[in-house]
Amino acid sequence: MNKTFNDLKLNSWLVRQCESLGVKHATPIQAACIPRILNGEDCIGCAKTGSGKTLAFALPILQKLCEDPYGIFALVLTPTRELAFQIADQFAVLGKVINLRHSVIVGGMDMVVQGRELSCLPHIVVATPGRLADHLKSCNTFTLKKIKFLVLDEADRLLDGKFDIQMKTIFSMLPKEKQMLMFSATMNDTLQKVQSLTNNKAFLFESDVTV
Ligand code: ADP
Ligand code: MG
Repeated sequence: MNKTFNDLKLNSWLVRQCESLGVKHATPIQAACIPRILNGEDCIGCAKTGSGKTLAFALPILQKLCEDPYGIFALVLTPTRELAFQIADQFAVLGKVINLRHSVIVGGMDMVVQGRELSCLPHIVVATPGRLADHLKSCNTFTLKKIKFLVLDEADRLLDGKFDIQMKTIFSMLPKEKQMLMFSATMNDTLQKVQSLTNNKAFLFESDVTV
């Protein structure tokens, strides 16, 4: 039997939120990564689409956020608008009971409205690289210098070269000290690149199992 979220040392309010979503037992990637993330480790998680990678990072980030809420706490980067909204939805549902503030920063939406949102210091920013880089170049009403977590979701697509310029801009604005969480369905050629981002110290989970 798979572990429950309670077994993974998640706080009871998060366990209740999961139960209200009908989710009780952790998937293998969640069981492997959640305790390590809570323990402060960098993680690389590689498992098929549908294996529950979003909760693998969202749950421990929300738990840590409650221990030490300060400024923009976590930045989640993802290659597409659709994925950004899906991830933000999961954070919103789970974080409702703690009045979580989140912001989705993607192309095709009003820059001014987004800038205003960012200056209100959301706890979680979910962004595509292009639009976030535009904000970082054009506006100084918010800082990412104090983030505690950087998540690269679909890390292989973020690091395959297409986003290099934007990723460089973003990385130059982040603190040196941060917990790095990188998830992907495939990690072929980019695994080395991803590992080097954490000085090869990240815990690596690889699996083919789906929910
Ligand atoms: P991935 O990012 O690995 O493709 P998602 O995080 O998008 O997968 O999750 C896929 C689906 O599985 C979502 O609908 C999510 O709510 C559901 N899910 C996540 N974790 C669990 C779990 N532990 N038990 C049952 N369903 C889960
Ligand atoms: Mg995913």
